[in-house]
Amino acid sequence: MTESALDKTVSAVRSAFRGYYFKPGMIETPEKIEQREFGYTQFGQQGMTRHLSFKNIKELIGTIMKEIPSDIYSSNAYYRFPTYPMQEKQWLGADLIFDIDGKDLHLPCVPSHTYLACAICGHTSSPAPEEKQEYSCPACRGKKAANISIPCGKCIEGSKKEVKRLIEFLTGDLGMQQSDIHVYFSGNNGFHIHVTDDAYVPLDPQARSDLVGYLAGTGLMAESVGVRKNNSENQFFIKFPKSGLAYGWRRRIADKLRIDSSSIIKLTHIVEHKGGYTPFKVDLDKMARDMGARIDPQVTTDVHRVFRMPGTLNSKSGLAKIRCGDLDSFEPFADACLLGGTKVAVRVKTPVKLKLKNKSFNISKESAELPAYVAVYLICKGLAQVS
Ligand SMILES: [Zn+2]
Ligand SMILES: [Zn+2]
Repeated sequence: MTESALDKTVSAVRSAFRGYYFKPGMIETPEKIEQREFGYTQFGQQGMTRHLSFKNIKELIGTIMKEIPSDIYSSNAYYRFPTYPMQEKQWLGADLIFDIDGKDLHLPCVPSHTYLACAICGHTSSPAPEEKQEYSCPACRGKKAANISIPCGKCIEGSKKEVKRLIEFLTGDLGMQQSDIHVYFSGNNGFHIHVTDDAYVPLDPQARSDLVGYLAGTGLMAESVGVRKNNSENQFFIKFPKSGLAYGWRRRIADKLRIDSSSIIKLTHIVEHKGGYTPFKVDLDKMARDMGARIDPQVTTDVHRVFRMPGTLNSKSGLAKIRCGDLDSFEPFADACLLGGTKVAVRVKTPVKLKLKNKSFNISKESAELPAYVAVYLICKGLAQVS
């Protein structure tokens, strides 16, 4: 992109973001705002401005309106001194947050809506019907390309399914109240789940990591469902735990194997059929992985991270991170698409299809005049520019 095209492109996106931030009531006021650290990134600049603090929402909105940042973040942590260097902030606790990212789910639909942008010349090609083994740029023969994915309905459904599975763990296994669990669309291709139950605020990274391990079903013991090891290698015997198989992972596995606390013979057959204790354990690990919550472990264990702020725009898409009322009926490409419709002339790098604000766009010409919310989405994805 030439320098002037880059300037014009950045300025078109910034102007659409400004329109959004100048509308009142878009940003959700963070709890205990004065104890949080804030940060933001600027259009066309590297790095994040961090360690900021605001006394109230008015101050924060004032800064956002002045700077029009590309992305705005707030800590999940509470600090005595949010603006001090990390070691001197005096950590007081942190909200528990989970991240479910569509791209981590490796859904089979992804290649059908993934555009490839050559790392050398920028040539962008439409999704191939099948995933190719090796990329070769049609323009320069370059071998490296960046994947640009426009999530489809199936991707969103897949992520929603994972959100529901996580909520089932949080309420069913951990006894959290539904009213303490807040689901947000991330603004791109996933969901953030914020927990406001005070019991979790003091947890250190180790305790959060143990929690993630439980939710993901890692290290589940065969003994917990009654399969115990004998002295020799693959020998085993069945003795169900005294507390039964009625709760949590034990119930999940028991349901899957269709056993209960009286199924000694049935479980013996199952384990024998697998080939003994060790192969059963391998199978159990796989079962647990399939049934566990698919969350990003690093996000949840980091107690000093800054997270995209609710109500702000995501510069990877121009969509907003917003709270989902009813998850089933929530439609990110309509409900989180909140930019205006002023026409913007863009050059599109490859023919592209997408649906925003319940309108379908099938753009096959190189030059197009598009509503700002479509133009910004394509620019943020790297599929268009202002010429
Ligand atoms: Zn190329
Ligand atoms: Zn998809």
